[in-house]
Amino acid sequence: MSEKMSVYLDNSATTRQYDQVTDAMAEAMRDFFGNPSSLHRMGLEAEKKVRAARKSLTGAFGCSEEEVIFTSCGTEADNTVLMGAASSRRRAGKKIITTAVEHPAILEPARRLESMGYQVEYIGVDKNCRLNMDHLRAAITDDTILISVMGVNNEAGTVMPVSEIARFKDEYNKANGTQIWLHSDAVQAFGKIPVNVKKQWQGVDLISVSGHKIHGPKGMGALYVRKGLNIEPFMIGGGQERHMRSGTENTPGIIGFGTACDLAVANFEGRVAAMAAARQYLLDGIKAELKDVLINSPEEAGSEAGLCCPSVLNVSFLGTRGEVILHTLEQDGIYVSTGSACSSNKKGRSHVLAAMGLKDKEIEGAIRFSFSEFNTQAEMEYTLEKVKQAVTRFRRLGSFR
Ligand code: PLP
Repeated sequence: MSEKMSVYLDNSATTRQYDQVTDAMAEAMRDFFGNPSSLHRMGLEAEKKVRAARKSLTGAFGCSEEEVIFTSCGTEADNTVLMGAASSRRRAGKKIITTAVEHPAILEPARRLESMGYQVEYIGVDKNCRLNMDHLRAAITDDTILISVMGVNNEAGTVMPVSEIARFKDEYNKANGTQIWLHSDAVQAFGKIPVNVKKQWQGVDLISVSGHKIHGPKGMGALYVRKGLNIEPFMIGGGQERHMRSGTENTPGIIGFGTACDLAVANFEGRVAAMAAARQYLLDGIKAELKDVLINSPEEAGSEAGLCCPSVLNVSFLGTRGEVILHTLEQDGIYVSTGSACSSNKKGRSHVLAAMGLKDKEIEGAIRFSFSEFNTQAEMEYTLEKVKQAVTRFRRLGSFR
């Protein structure tokens, strides 16, 4: 019998904050509490810190400082794009294209826009959450104002074809004299796949990211807005963030986010390799040692479209209930998720797994394991053993096969 461990495998829900982030934030709260808008020395010191953090994000996006807007979370960044772009571009058209598997931070504003008279088309996916590109290409019309496609799906981990869509959108705009914007919710992609607008993500106009998915603080987000785009601001008031997001800056949060971003960028390859190794070990073990499982994520990990982001593995253990498996594993010190934790307060089956065509029983038995650079092989050996025990016991009690 192995000794009890604590294994955190819910990193798509949130991550453990880096100690360096906590230290930088504590220092900010203690020593840099001035208002960045104040004209005196303390204001200037705080402003300098905010500027340095903004620079950290520009490094990851490959953009300039005036193209980064700090927000209070990924949800705010997503809401700002949908509501703000729809409003500022209402004379250009009323059509928005997104996917059926977006996070509620996109789907809810999209539904609100529908109720306001906008037309929203939701593009479907296959059984591994790969986007139907033919459908997306056919959906684009001259009155389309915005396409919003996530970088990585939060439940299946599938990498979406953002760069391919960007190329197609640019060609369409050129050929038709339109100005369709492309937004990507990169909350799950950031820090795991490259999102540089000068390189891999050339042509992407707007990007949302969140601090707490990259070992940064909760309640921090950012938005890349390509220079020249005019988005109606969501928060109006004191005119901070170039009038794009009013409200006194959350300096400790911004400084913490910048620190997390620096660490993520500096050790990008090492971090991603550690996640990929943990994921591969668990995937191989589950396939070899358990029958009647459905691997819902694409099996191969990587940053290319259609592969799986190395941070996620979604598996249906047929003949079980994910919720029971989750609580059984919890007793062994292992923390996983049954679906998108961000929407766990909403009951019902996962809209992502349903859009992937999974049957109710397959959705019921689904578990999402999500990895970070801190996961070790010893943890995966322990997890595999406990998953096997939990699934076997449930199936025996439920007389499955
Ligand atoms: N978008 C995606 C894809 C997410 O996974 C999440 C959170 O899980 C969000 C947006 C919301 O981010 P935040 O928690 O910072 O509001």
